[in-house]
Amino acid sequence: MTDTYAVIGNPIKHSQSPFIQHEFARQTGQIMRYEAILAALDSFAQTVKTFQQRGGKGMNITVPFKLEAYALATQLTDRAQAAQAVNTFKFGANGTILGDNTDGAGLVHDIEFNLGIPIADKRILLMGAGGAAHGAILPLLQQHPALLAIANRTPAKALALQQQFAGHSSIAAGHYQDFAGTDFDILINATSASLQDKLPPLPAGLFKTTALAYDMLYSSKLTPFLIFAQAQGAQHLADGTGMLVEQAAESFFLWRGIRPKTQTVIKQLRDKLHHAS
Ligand code: NDP
Repeated sequence: MTDTYAVIGNPIKHSQSPFIQHEFARQTGQIMRYEAILAALDSFAQTVKTFQQRGGKGMNITVPFKLEAYALATQLTDRAQAAQAVNTFKFGANGTILGDNTDGAGLVHDIEFNLGIPIADKRILLMGAGGAAHGAILPLLQQHPALLAIANRTPAKALALQQQFAGHSSIAAGHYQDFAGTDFDILINATSASLQDKLPPLPAGLFKTTALAYDMLYSSKLTPFLIFAQAQGAQHLADGTGMLVEQAAESFFLWRGIRPKTQTVIKQLRDKLHHAS
């Protein structure tokens, strides 16, 4: 039987995961199937179980099920444990479910390898304290930045994240205004403000002239954050298309033991998103 994988979410029609995983399989010559599964909001665990029982080997998990996936996993990788959210399952013998979180690794890979910007010794501003920010913290800290500052509209959530990673001396947290007067090398928008066509409440003067402004949202047009960053003099602008493809490549590696090449798939996906807009 052909090894079968799937992405599960609600909604699921917008998911680019089938396109990306089919490209990876074609490129590496892997014989596998990859489906998109819509789960009702109250039947995530049952839908996973049914897929597992019909021989499914692994899954990607997307909105809104990453926390439920974390609870359902029978084993967790360190990065999933740190993120307290799971975006990848690998099913083992005897019904075991390994839960991983590849989002943060995808972000780091995109910044370091695709954009060519090392994170070590850099000053990073991470905006947001939701699921995406949560998943990014450990992989970013593992690259040894000089500072990782977490800013959130509701500062208590940023402070809670700082507490969770308190063993790391280079971490700070607060409201956006708390970082006025500090300049950063890498500014990452992990809020959902761009989805509402809004800008997080950023004070001016945060961007070094060499700065990278990174918006996790994948979009064919510049987001309000990237427009603001450009006006503030940021040298590099990036959206989340690379992160999306890189997190998928990490999942593919976990399942198949082969790391696909991502550059051409990122380009194909950008073209696809551009034509769809
Ligand atoms: P969550 O809903 O978990 O978190 C939302 C965060 O955004 C919170 O910190 C919230 O602040 C903040 N926020 C929302 N609106 C505003 C606003 N108008 N101004 C300032 N802050 C705001 O979302 P996720 O973490 O799941 O997703 C965040 C983004 O990351 C989305 O755009 C998503 O598409 C993207 N993403 C991209 C991925 C990729 O592969 N490229 C992977 C995963 C996510 P508060 O706490 O104050 O409410």
